Amino acid sequence: MTYYKDLSPYEYFRDYEPFGLNLINVGWLSKSEPFPEGETSQEFKAKLFEFCLDEYVVQITRGFHTCEFCGGSHQGNPQYGEAHDLARLGNGEIRVIGQSALYAAPTLIHHYVVDHRYNPPEEFIKAVLSGPPPGSREHENVLNKYKLA
Ligand SMILES: [Zn+2]
Repeated sequence: MTYYKDLSPYEYFRDYEPFGLNLINVGWLSKSEPFPEGETSQEFKAKLFEFCLDEYVVQITRGFHTCEFCGGSHQGNPQYGEAHDLARLGNGEIRVIGQSALYAAPTLIHHYVVDHRYNPPEEFIKAVLSGPPPGSREHENVLNKYKLA
């Protein structure tokens, strides 16, 4: 998967990106680049997982990205219980609405946080915890722009 520095402007699929919004990268990790590690709250992990459910994923690519660090993907991972069937982590992107930016992250970000102790930027954590949740009208509006594109 392509590496992008946290909080850099989004470029992936730029030609297809239907926004004039301030779209910012988070969680595009690579083996060749160090990333911040640390413990994050259960609440954050649980909410982040909701963003990764299939129905909220955009820019779905063919096939699955596997994790560069462990070779794994979340597909069919029983560790995630019944919900694992609903989240094909590794083949798309999520959108999280923050106060001054819209964040673009690969669905693998949940795996990075849970299994590799990736500690995303504070503003992203805040947006996941207190921004409009998946299923809300605001989040729905963002996703709808992708469907129209
Ligand atoms: Zn991994």
